[in-house]
Amino acid sequence: MSENKNIDLKCPYCGALRHIDSNFEFIVCEYCGASEPYRESEKVKIERMRSQTERQIAADKAQVQKETELKKAEINNVSQSIMGGLELLNKGDEIISKTRSVMRTIFAGIFMIGLIIFLIIALVIGRHFF
Ligand SMILES: [Zn+2]
Repeated sequence: MSENKNIDLKCPYCGALRHIDSNFEFIVCEYCGASEPYRESEKVKIERMRSQTERQIAADKAQVQKETELKKAEINNVSQSIMGGLELLNKGDEIISKTRSVMRTIFAGIFMIGLIIFLIIALVIGRHFF
C-alpha cells in the first residue's frame, strides 16, 4: 500500500507500535527491532514539504525579526550618542555664553572704575590749575 493512512503502525512480528524514522526512510519497531522501508505517498510528501517550508519561513521570519531588533538597537545607540553629543554642544554653548556675560560685566566694571578714576584725576587737576 502506498497510501500513508493505510500504513499499519502495528508491528507484524510482535504487535508493538512502530514509528517512522526522522528521515522518513523506515518504519521501525523499537521493541523487536524489525524495520521496513517506508514509502511516502504523494500526499504525505507534499504535506512534509509544506510543513518544512512553513518551518523554514518561520525560521527566516524569526531571523529577520532578530536582525531588525539588532538594527533597531544599533540605531538607538547611534541616536543616543548623537543626543549625548548635542547635549555636550549645548552645555558648551551655555558655558561660553555665561563666560561672555561674566566677561562683559567685568569689563563694564573695569571701564566704570577707570572712568571714575579719570574723573577724580580730572577734578583734582582742574582744581589745581583753575
Ligand atoms: Zn516488533
